[in-house]
Formats: sequence, structure tokens, C-alpha cells
Amino acid sequence: MHLRTLELNGFKSFGKKTELSFGAPITAIVGPNGSGKSNVAESFRFCLGEQSVKSMRGKKTEDLIWNGAGSDAKGNRASVRLVFDNLPQNIDGKSKKLFNVDFDEVTVERTVFRDGVSEYKVNGSPVRLKDVIELLSQAHIGASGHHIISQGEADRILNANSRDRREMVEDALGLKIYQYKRKESEKKLQKTEENTRQVESLRREIAPHIRFLKKQVEKIEKAKEMRAELATLYSDYLKREYIYIQETNKRLSVEEKEPQAEKIRLEEELGVAKETLEKAKKKDGKSEEVIKLEKDLSEIRNKKDYLISSIGRVEGEIAGLERVLVRQKSRTPTEGNVPLSEVRRIADQTEEIEESVKNESDPESIKEVLRKIKEILRSFIERHSVKKGENEEDSEREIAKLKEDRARFQDEFAKVSAKEKELQRFYSDLKESIDKEKDQNRDAEKAVFRIMAELNSLRSKLSAIRAEKERIKMVEDDFNREIQEGVVLVGRDIKRYETANVSHDGKTVLSEAEIISEDRNKQEDRRRAIEKIKIRLEDAGLVGAEEIVKEHDETVERDMYLEKELLDLKASASSLKELIRELGEKLDTEFKEGVQRINQEFQKFFQVMFGGGNAVLSVVKEEKRNRGESEYILAETDDSEIVAAMEEEEEGKEGIDINVSLPRKKIKGLMMLSGGERALTSIALIFAMSQVNPPPFLILDETDAALDEANSKKYGDMIENLSQKSQLILITHNRETMSRAGIIYGVTMDRTGVSKLLSIQFAEAVAVAK
Ligand code: ATP
Repeated sequence: MHLRTLELNGFKSFGKKTELSFGAPITAIVGPNGSGKSNVAESFRFCLGEQSVKSMRGKKTEDLIWNGAGSDAKGNRASVRLVFDNLPQNIDGKSKKLFNVDFDEVTVERTVFRDGVSEYKVNGSPVRLKDVIELLSQAHIGASGHHIISQGEADRILNANSRDRREMVEDALGLKIYQYKRKESEKKLQKTEENTRQVESLRREIAPHIRFLKKQVEKIEKAKEMRAELATLYSDYLKREYIYIQETNKRLSVEEKEPQAEKIRLEEELGVAKETLEKAKKKDGKSEEVIKLEKDLSEIRNKKDYLISSIGRVEGEIAGLERVLVRQKSRTPTEGNVPLSEVRRIADQTEEIEESVKNESDPESIKEVLRKIKEILRSFIERHSVKKGENEEDSEREIAKLKEDRARFQDEFAKVSAKEKELQRFYSDLKESIDKEKDQNRDAEKAVFRIMAELNSLRSKLSAIRAEKERIKMVEDDFNREIQEGVVLVGRDIKRYETANVSHDGKTVLSEAEIISEDRNKQEDRRRAIEKIKIRLEDAGLVGAEEIVKEHDETVERDMYLEKELLDLKASASSLKELIRELGEKLDTEFKEGVQRINQEFQKFFQVMFGGGNAVLSVVKEEKRNRGESEYILAETDDSEIVAAMEEEEEGKEGIDINVSLPRKKIKGLMMLSGGERALTSIALIFAMSQVNPPPFLILDETDAALDEANSKKYGDMIENLSQKSQLILITHNRETMSRAGIIYGVTMDRTGVSKLLSIQFAEAVAVAK
């Protein structure tokens, strides 16, 4: 037994809180007309999620709430709570949990407010109608209410159209849960397909962007490769260049050292040589002294010559005069005797004068000479116009005078000779020293020329070195520029050329000698290769590569995510389709099998009721229902979906027809049955349905009303039989039915219009029922 209690609070006529407990397989509710018995049955419907107010005999929601009576104010809400025992202890002793939840007791509560809003709670926690329906479906307590047969509705299943009948049958067979599941799956599928389309459209949208980014990234990758290649080329190139520069600089400073020192030495030497030369040049002034000396010497020699000749002349005159004197002494002086010396002197004087004008051509000068000669001759005549007797003295005087002259000349000659000697010695010394200096001068000049020539050759050597240095400086500048560019293009790693000593192939250790001896053209080729890559890199012109790669990765990642999502969506769509197909198949087979099983039971119950005959359900194709004809008016916002689902699922499916043939009667078809026969047929069908898939409880509101005594008995037997599988709550006026109940509740209504409930005994019940 799963049904424990029912609690009504403000529901319809139950203005006060009322609780019914169902401790027996059969509970009977008895009471006078209008006391509120049917309200109890309706409270079950209400609590289990009934959306149709009409089926609870109301026009609007408010009709379900205690309306007040007399002094009692009307309520604001109506609530009904059902308590189920969820322990695996069924009425037939089989171990089975009623609800697939971890609670031993499950309470389902519904409250409705005057504004029409309903609240559902399962075990005290608010839930949606959908959750209640799903939960109840597990226990075959469907919303179609096949297990709650309201008053006068016993033959509802007979009156219903074939499709509604099918719904009741499906509900009774516990197939609703599959229908909900299928509906849910279809909704999910629809949603999934919608999502799939969205994702596909998103992917289509980003595809061109990805293609663009991919191309960019390929370019970036290419550039990366180029950079790597460039780095390798750089490492080799820079290493070689570095060593080349270092070694060349070293070599040049070595090469320069010696000529530099030599140059300094030669410059010093040149200085000295120049000085020497300068000095020598200065000494050149002595040549004037030589000329002067030579002139002096020549003058002195002339003078000497003159003196010699003068001495000779004087000596001659003396000798002549002495001879004259001798003669004079030995004879008388005569007029007109002229000493020879006198004549000679005149001859000498004229000779001298003639000598002095030897080169003259001027007539005036010649005249002057002639005048001088005339004077000399006159003075001679003057002197020799003397008296006789004076001659001897004159001669002696003359001789003495001449001797004086001679002595004077000799003296002078001696002086002049000495002077000459001295001058000659000076001259010789000077000459010697000049010659010597001339030699020195020539040597100095030679030395200067030699040094200058050497210096020139050194200078050109040094300037060649300097030129080489300049060239290396330029190479070094290029090298540094290259490094700067390289760092920008490839990164700081390229600076490792100083330490790394490996060529681009990563193996060969480069020897310095090898590098130095290599043809520079090869290095130039390397540089050109580097340039080429640099140009290609520049052409690639990728700015913001990092961002592009990042964006590419993110976009691809997003696309991959979308692709995965798409796959997931497709997978879930196909599994949903599969599920829908399976559910459809299951529904179909279980429905058909269920109908067969119901038919077996239906036939049995029918034959029991009618003592023979045949009753059978048949599956038929139904017309589509007009969607405007919804009977669900209690649809709440939250649950509108489920109501729509309830309606939709009905479309174009198979319905159920009931065919009966009574024993001994020719009538066939439901329309021709009497009221009692209809009631019996319905009961047979309701019971058959309950047998196939017994609900935990079955409420029958005066289903037995139309039965005669004999049938009441049969009915009583059947319900006892039925109560072994389902708890029965029977609202009845029937004595026979009451007698089968374990618990009997009497419902009364006092003057205030409030239904009251009391547990009574059979005897009382009979009285109450009356
Ligand atoms: P019968 O034996 O004739 O079928 P019953 O015992 O089944 O009678 P119900 O139909 O359950 O009686 O009860 C009907 C009574 O409930 C009526 O008197 C009606 O006035 C009262 N009732 C219905 N709705 C409300 C409400 N909202 N507030 C107060 N009373 C209500």
C-alpha cells in the first residue's frame, strides 16, 4: 500500500484542514448527498496536477477554494497534500519502489491561489507541474485520471472519442512517461537542430576570416623560417666578419709598428741631416772670404812685384849714380850731364802711366796722360838746369836718397812678403776647410735625400696601412650596422658571434687562419644572401605578427570548439533521433501489447459481469483534432509548454474503438446499451485496465450507483480482487460496497457548509449513507 494520507485545506467544501489516512486496501467514503464526498475525489485530481477546472466541476480556479459560509470567511488558497509510502513493499508483496527517488515517503502538494496561480511541492520543495507529472508517471498515476472515476463518469471511457480513449489506455498502460520522454526528446532535437544551424552559420561566418588569418600565419611562419635562416646566416657571417676585423686590425697594428718606429727614427735622422746641411750651407759664406783673400794676395803680389822691380830700379840707379860719382870725382863737372838713373826713372814713370791707361780708349784720359808725361819731362828739365860743381853732391845725395828708397823698399818688401806668407797660409787653411766642408755638405745632402726617399717609401707604406685601416673601419661600421639591424630582425642572440665559434652548419669550428685567408668575395656573397632575405622579410611586411597569431589561434580554437560542438550536437541529434525512434517503437509495441492484454482482461470482466458475450478494444486511425478545441484552461505560464505538449501529441495518431456484444442479445455497439449495461461495460473496462497495469490507487466515485443487487455483489467481488493490486477509495451509497471496505469515512456537512470527516463503522456507515 502506497497511499498513506490525503490532507485537504481550504479545498472546496473542506474549509478546515481535514486528513484522511488510507490504512486498508479498500477505503469507503460515505455520506449524504452534497456533503462533500466527490470533493474528496476531486482533491486527488487537483493534487495530481489536473489542469481542467471543468473536470473538477468548477468554472474558474476560485471555485476550487473554500468559498466561506455564514460567519466563516472564504479562504485565499486551497491546498491538497498526498503522502505516499515509497518503501519497496507493495500491496501484492512485491518489492518495488513507487517513485524512483531516494525518499521513503513522498509527499506531493498543490496549492492554488485566487489569482489562479498554482504551486507544486514534492517533499516540501517547490517544483514545476512538469516535474510532478514526470514523478507521477513513474507510478502510473497519469493526468488523464483513468484511475479516478468521478461520479457519473464511469462510462466516460465509453463516451469519449477514440483518441481520448487511447489516451486513457496509454495512461493506464503507463506509457505517458515514454510520451513525455519522446516529446522532450523531440523538443531537445528541435533545439539541437536549431543550435546546429546556428553553429554552422557561425562557422560559415568565421571561415573566411580563418582562411585570411591562416594565410597571414603562413606568411608569419615563412617569415619565422626566414628569420631562422637569417639567424644562421648571420651567425656564420658575423663570426667571420668579427674575426676578420679583429685579425686584420691586429695584423695592421703589427705591420704598422715597425714602419712607425722607423719613421720616427728617420725623421729624427732627417732632422739631424737637415741641421747638418743647414750648417754646411751657412759655411758657404766663406767663399767670399776666399775671394777677398785671393784679391788681397794678388794685390800683395803686385805690390811685391812692384817692390822687387822698385828695388831693382833703385839698385840700378844707385849703381849708375855710383858709377857717375866715380866719374865725377875723377873729372870736372860738365854742363848738361844727366844721370842715367834720372832718365830711367822718367822712363819707368811714363811706362807706369802708359800701363795705367793701357785699356783706356777715351781721348780725354789719353790727353790727361800726355799732360802728366809733359809735366814729368818739364820737372826733369827743371831739375837738371843746375850749376856746374853741384853734381857730385847731388849724386851723393841722390845715391843716399836712393839707398834710403831701397832700404824702404826692401823693408816694405819684407813686410809685404811676410804679409803674403800670412795671407797664403790663411788662404790655404781656408781653402782646405772649404773643401772639407763642401764634402760634408754633399754628404749631408745625400743623407737628406736618402732619408727623405726612405721616409717617402715608409710614408706610402704607412698610408697604405692607414688606408687599409680606414677600409677596416668602414667594414667595422658596416658590421656594427649589420648587428643593429640583425638584432631588430632576428633578436639579441645574433650577438653571440663573439663566443660561438661555430659555422652555420653547427659543426665546423672556424679557424681564424681559415677565415683570414678566405677570399673576401665569399663573405660578400654571404652578405648578399643576408640582404636578399632581409628584403624578402621587408616585403612580407608583417606588422603585429603576435596579435595575428594570437587571433588566428583563438579563432581556430573557437572554430575547433564550434566543430566539436557541432559534432556533439550532431551526435546528440542522432542519439535523440534514435531515442525518439526507440521510444516510438516502444510506445507502439507496448501500446499494442497493452491493448491485447487489456482485451484479455476486458473480455474476462465483461463475461463475469454479463455472464458471457464479447468485448474488445480495437486500434483505429483517428482524424486530427482541431487545435482550437483545447479543454485545458488552467494552463499556467510555467507549464504552458507541457499543456501544449499534451495537445500536440494527440495529432494524427491511432485511437481506440470499443466493440461489445452482449450474450443472448443481438445488440452490438455502445450506443444501444442500457444505463446499467453501460455502467457494467465501463466497470469491466476500468477494471481490465487496472489489472494490466495496476495503479497504486483507484478512486471510484459512485461507480456502483447503477448496479442492481446481483451486480453489486459481482462488483464487490471484483473490487476485492482488484484491491490486491491497487488501493481502492470508493465513494458509495452501496451497502454491498461498504461491506468490502476496511476503513469507512463518513462525510457530513454542517450548517456552515463545511464538510467534516469521521471514521465510522460499517453499521454507522449504512446509517449515514441513508
Ligand atoms: P452526492 O452524494 O449528492 O454526490 P457529495 O457528497 O458528493 O453529494 P459533493 O458534490 O462532494 O457532495 O459536495 C458538494 C457540496 O460542496 C455542495 O454543497 C457545494 O456547495 C459544496 N461546495 C462545492 N464547492 C465549494 C466551495 N468552493 N466552497 C464551499 N462549498 C463548496
